[in-house]
Amino acid sequence: VTFESLGLIPQLCEACEKIGFTKPTEIQQAAIPDALEGRDIIGLAQTGSGKTAAFALPILQRLFQNPQPLYACVMAPTRELAFQISEQFEALGSTIGVRCAVIVGGMDMMAQSIALSKKPHVVICTPGRLVDHLENTKGFNLKQLKYLVMDEADRLLDLDFGAEIEKVLKIIPRERNTFLFSATMTSKVEKLQRASLVKPVKVEV
Ligand code: AMP
Repeated sequence: VTFESLGLIPQLCEACEKIGFTKPTEIQQAAIPDALEGRDIIGLAQTGSGKTAAFALPILQRLFQNPQPLYACVMAPTRELAFQISEQFEALGSTIGVRCAVIVGGMDMMAQSIALSKKPHVVICTPGRLVDHLENTKGFNLKQLKYLVMDEADRLLDLDFGAEIEKVLKIIPRERNTFLFSATMTSKVEKLQRASLVKPVKVEV
């Protein structure tokens, strides 16, 4: 199995090669073809499985085919994870010129507002700070959003981000795709899945 055989465009295959991804991991093999077809995905996978590229590559490909600011929003439970996700998006999207912004708590709001005003393609955030910007940053909205990713959903809910996630779900377009990744399938994660995904493909590794 190669990245090319999963349906990825040469630019993204080249980026994978450049950063030393020689062969897709199991979760990437399972998720990428359906994601490229426009399906919602629920992924049960641990950190280390390659789950970040499993959601980043299909998003980057569809972004390339229809470039648009504020195309995707990734919600992560911690700042550290948000920065790691952003690094992977930038590395994998280097050949297509992707622009990302990281919007997390404990950092300067004004600098983040400026970053958002530059219309990044992908916003990687922690949910509390995202809601803060949606409520307080003039000119910022997610009305054109095509992809929502909830990464480590079990941890997002354990950290009590449920209310913020609900707020985001209420204001983003229904016509979008959603990816939910979680290490464990808890009843709270199932409830979130029912509230946010449409006919998802379940991938498990
Ligand atoms: P993740 O599970 O997304 O946190 O990824 C874990 C680590 O695996 C990261 O350091 C990635 O850069 C790396 N990785 C992801 N996909 C591949 C791949 N196909 N080949 C080699 N390394 C990979």
